[in-house]
Amino acid sequence: MAVAATTPVLEIAALARDIVGPDWVITDGAQLRVYECDGLKNQREIPGAVILPGSTDQVAAVVRLCHERGVPFVARGAGSGLSGGAMPTAAGVVIGLSRLRQVLDLDVPNQRVRVQPGVTNLHVSEVAAPHGLYYAPDPSSQQVCTIGGNIAENAGGAHCLKYGFTTNHVLAATVVLSDGRVVEFGGEAPDAPGLDLLGVLIGSEGTIAVVTEALLNLLPRPQHVETLVAMFPSSETAGAAVSAIIAEGIVPAAVEMMDRLAIDAAKTQTPITWDTEAALIVELDGPLIEVQSQFEAVTAICERCGADAVRVAATPEERMEIWRARKSAFAAVGALAPAYLVQDGVIPRTRLPEVLNAIRDLADANGVRVANVFHAGDGNLHPLVLYDNKVEGEQDRAERVAIRIVELCVEFGGSITGEHGVGVEKVCSMPKMFSGDDLTAFARVRAAFDPDGLCNPDKLLPTPRLCGEVPGFHHTHAVEAAGLGERM
Ligand SMILES: Cc1cc2nc3c(=O)[nH]c(=O)nc-3n(C[C@H](O)[C@H](O)[C@H](O)COP(=O)(O)OP(=O)(O)OC[C@H]3O[C@@H](n4cnc5c(N)ncnc54)[C@H](O)[C@@H]3O)c2cc1C
Repeated sequence: MAVAATTPVLEIAALARDIVGPDWVITDGAQLRVYECDGLKNQREIPGAVILPGSTDQVAAVVRLCHERGVPFVARGAGSGLSGGAMPTAAGVVIGLSRLRQVLDLDVPNQRVRVQPGVTNLHVSEVAAPHGLYYAPDPSSQQVCTIGGNIAENAGGAHCLKYGFTTNHVLAATVVLSDGRVVEFGGEAPDAPGLDLLGVLIGSEGTIAVVTEALLNLLPRPQHVETLVAMFPSSETAGAAVSAIIAEGIVPAAVEMMDRLAIDAAKTQTPITWDTEAALIVELDGPLIEVQSQFEAVTAICERCGADAVRVAATPEERMEIWRARKSAFAAVGALAPAYLVQDGVIPRTRLPEVLNAIRDLADANGVRVANVFHAGDGNLHPLVLYDNKVEGEQDRAERVAIRIVELCVEFGGSITGEHGVGVEKVCSMPKMFSGDDLTAFARVRAAFDPDGLCNPDKLLPTPRLCGEVPGFHHTHAVEAAGLGERM
């Protein structure tokens, strides 16, 4: 067909209409705006085109078009990421995976399911439920976020304390490499021979390849579940209880904490009546007899650590209400302030009380409010920095506080991100955690998969262009050609 396009990206869009069908290519300015950011709303870029393929072969053909023309592309699931991972590159292509949402094969005897990447996290468990099975990783965004996005971000959730993150539940993935070749990482048999490329893929934030199918592990539903909410007079006492529970040798399915501000937010969306400074949600699951004895121990520990009250979910509905309160808290904070930043950092759980104090002091000193709702069991904090974007200077102050919070996490021996990824938001914070040699090793692996630097560039790894001086950068032609700056 004749291509009346003037730029490489429009040429790709024109050719892609023949591959994916004319309805699945977007170049209209107003429609492109829908894709300009993900859940990180303060960074935006309009893509040159959005292409929505309907099969692995179509994804591969679109990627080949980008490769041939040197045009960058970014895979996009539901766009619920909170670090800008799915933010487009200007004049680049967004490859939306939302049409790929079929459950391809539910293998009940082997407790596995093969899915396309656009299937939502919750839908996997819904499909498995009639067979007494479920998919363990449970991000709070599970109603909307996709398996492709979960793999790219190594998503976690409340129950990852006991069951592990996405990386512990993916057996294999079909991926399209940056030149359009289709390969399979991992395999049906556990511990497949060869290099662990699946391990490299999971958590690579879309910088290695586009996932077009995944084989997931399913777990049997536990025999018994108990959920309690312990009310504490302070976040510090609740934090001390978390350490005490784990020190006792108990591994709950989940230990989540909400402070008063987060509870106030959740009250705007759910009927909870908790009136406390800090609520600790503890869920225990497993064989009935084990859960019962652990439940008594956890209750005693909470009381010993100063809990004013311990409420137990008496019915499945009450349990759902507790989880609705916890999982709605991020979005509900929007009812308390015109704008907010979601932060994500990790600290050693024994240092929870100190870090929570430090965050409070930081918030007070900067005149902003910070709500805390987080995975306390694995020390994965999610401070929500509230601000009014109409008050001059308040957004800047909120951003400074948010960045200082992750720096605190590193200073306390933790990490700049637990589960939301580096994306664009934290790319320049990577040298705070990694040496020049570490970053060089990452860059070499990435360049091996994507030598032209087209697959979600400017995410995850810092470059001098993005961040100024970056340790570990030395000029070589090969890496410059890989679009990774001058590292190696
Ligand atoms: C209210 C709320 C609560 C949240 N709670 C949690 C939580 O508890 N735990 C947690 O881990 N996260 C949480 N998140 C963050 C987010 O939902 C996860 O990171 C999720 O995994 C993103 O999935 P997505 O489909 O929206 O991916 P997107 O946002 O579309 O993309 C995220 C990254 O994945 C890449 N990507 C997407 N699809 C593919 C693919 N098929 N192949 C290759 N790369 C791909 C993108 O390029 C991007 O880098 C929350 C977000 C919100 C808004």
